[in-house]
Amino acid sequence: MDRYSEFLKKREQAGNLRRLTPLTHLGRGRVKEADAASPSHYIDFSSNDYLALTEHPKVVAAGREALLKEGAGSGAARLMSGSLAGHQLLEKETALLKGTEAALLFGSGYLANIGVIPALVGRGDVIFCDRLNHASIYDGCRLAGAKTYRFQHNDSNHLEALLKKHRGAYRQALIVVESIYSMDGDRCPLKETAALRNRFDCLLMVDEAHATGVFGPQGAGVIAEDGVIGEVDIAMGTFGKALGSYGAYIAASQQLVQYLINQARSFIYSTALPPSVIGASLAALRLIKSEPELRSELHAKIEMFKQYLYLGGISQDLGPSQIVPLMIGDSEKALALAAKLKEKHIFATPVRPPTVPENTARIRFSITRHHQQDDLKNTAETLLMVMER
Ligand SMILES: *Cc1c(COP(=O)(O)O)cnc(C)c1O
Repeated sequence: MDRYSEFLKKREQAGNLRRLTPLTHLGRGRVKEADAASPSHYIDFSSNDYLALTEHPKVVAAGREALLKEGAGSGAARLMSGSLAGHQLLEKETALLKGTEAALLFGSGYLANIGVIPALVGRGDVIFCDRLNHASIYDGCRLAGAKTYRFQHNDSNHLEALLKKHRGAYRQALIVVESIYSMDGDRCPLKETAALRNRFDCLLMVDEAHATGVFGPQGAGVIAEDGVIGEVDIAMGTFGKALGSYGAYIAASQQLVQYLINQARSFIYSTALPPSVIGASLAALRLIKSEPELRSELHAKIEMFKQYLYLGGISQDLGPSQIVPLMIGDSEKALALAAKLKEKHIFATPVRPPTVPENTARIRFSITRHHQQDDLKNTAETLLMVMER
């Protein structure tokens, strides 16, 4: 037991101990501490509920309807008796949105990534992985047992050099990237990556967790926006972020989906998503297709927040997406700044090593449709003021 208490003590001393703070969601992007004696309330800049669909009346009603009609759970894995008509319908409509032959649901994005990668490649194969890829992608690579090379973030030259040097020594090769990166909110050079996939005979997998619903025609994502659907072998995305529900999908060829149904262990050996989640996801998917205003409203708010910061004298590039990283550098400084913001009722996440490279600690603001013009203006002003001190 000593090693566990030792670990916790060390973490605590380094100021890196992670703890859970239960919150009450008050709606409209406001949260309150659930069990403090004098509960503080915050504007939430840490949520991935980008389009505010978690509380959209149509999404909530569809979830409730499915719950009442089909019960609280699906009762079994998909290959047992858990595969419902709703799963199939959601897969069909997801494939239509993504422009692929087929799609397959997974219990979560984490489960999708740790299931798909080991199904596609193994010993004797090779993976080329962007340095800033999500932990679930790294865990998938580790489970696969394939040789994994990390290339510098968004650096096609480095990827090309690694491919030149190592691709030839292996059978199957897989390149894995995210289209919008979760930490920096920046965008993968997908066209360049797709060209390398073609030239070096690789499979290309693109994680669209933060792009689905937010970018592309009908919210289909960056793959569609960049016109590389035919060159992406596996698109992955989630229903738990902009779609306001839970679960994940992969979109691919009919053959690859058939293969994953037979080989992806996190698909085969896990209970199917419950009816209420499927109902909510389906309603959210239809909303992102039919209501482009959801996206244009969000993008206007993102632009507004960045403009307030630029006008206030922030000179660093705040990036192209709803994830706005404010680079601070020093971890202690980033922590102190986040604490000061919290005192001012602003909930934004400090991101520190080892999640990001040394000396690149940052505060990450997620902009959502919940945020009103006043929220964005006041937050930018408070931030600028707190940074000056
Ligand atoms: C959130 C996220 C995941 C995991 O998805 P969950 O549905 O939350 O498990 C995977 N990849 C990326 C890039 C993510 O941001």
